[in-house]
Amino acid sequence: MKPPPFEYVAPRTLEEALDVLAERGFDAKILAGGQSLVPLLNFRLASPAVLVDVNRIPGLDGVRETEDGGLAIGALVRQRRLERDLAVARRSPLAAETAPFIAHPQIRNRGTVGGSLAHADPAAELPAVALAAGATMLVRKRDGERRVGAKDFYLSLMTTDLAPEEMLVEVELPPMPPRTGWAFREFARRHGDYALAGVAVLVSLDEGGACREARLVFLSAGDVPMEASEAGALLAGQEITESSIAAAAAHAAEKEIEPTGDIHASEDYKRHLAAVLARRALRAAAERARAGDGAGA
Ligand code: FAD
Repeated sequence: MKPPPFEYVAPRTLEEALDVLAERGFDAKILAGGQSLVPLLNFRLASPAVLVDVNRIPGLDGVRETEDGGLAIGALVRQRRLERDLAVARRSPLAAETAPFIAHPQIRNRGTVGGSLAHADPAAELPAVALAAGATMLVRKRDGERRVGAKDFYLSLMTTDLAPEEMLVEVELPPMPPRTGWAFREFARRHGDYALAGVAVLVSLDEGGACREARLVFLSAGDVPMEASEAGALLAGQEITESSIAAAAAHAAEKEIEPTGDIHASEDYKRHLAAVLARRALRAAAERARAGDGAGA
């Protein structure tokens, strides 16, 4: 298939890009890595009048360790860099561990962090990581900027809080608390396929070794990345044992996520996978937190 006709602009500055977005609104679409947008065009599932290619804009492809111990990742940072960058490994080992699960290296070489977050596919890995990490999105438009937490960014299926004239320019990850462990687990039929189920987990321990906070965010488990906050609350204040892990994972899979059956897997099978993956991820994250090899340890 060929895409429908479109105008193409390739601004050299962020201001120019934001001007086009302000003037063309719904008619314009940002082109970042093109790994989701171009297939959509070719299948004629999208037909924007103008594509705003942001790849020539300087300053959006940086990874910065922030003074508070967190990490800021520019929207144009390629997904591949997450698995190779030392600053990411130090400050967000969860993102570093997750990145290799996204598609294939060729796609990660082009696909951007901002594109994945803004595209908001509920089966995508990075939105789940952003939500688990408590990320904040830095959003710009012609005459202003604002910050929005990942929790408020994902509204419904493939829909974010971004207005047509806005662009995601950076994602900020807060520092991981001391004694925090992380883990990402997913199941896909073939490596690189979108996962049938997956989960990003962060576990923080208190000084006595009990769970201070646990965050579990599932992908392919509803219309948006699904945080199982009740399961996290079940663990908080408890010793992390096989039975507390099993109870939290079962609660998340049975009561909190909302997977739908499709040609790839039934709803029951997806819930089963979610429980198994959550148990594995919680176990691994707790072990890392105890071993003190979390970035915040
Ligand atoms: P684009 O395709 O350029 O844009 C996607 C959408 O986001 C468009 O609507 C665009 O306007 C908007 N957008 C882009 N950047 C911004 C911005 N900065 N601000 C606001 N809006 C913006 N992804 C996964 O997560 N997991 C997978 O397993 C996976 N498998 C894949 C397999 C294949 C075969 C392919 C082709 C893709 C796969 N992807 C997967 C998608 C891939 O990760 C994409 O790179 C990603 O979804 C979009 O990033 P992009 O930079 O390519 O964005």
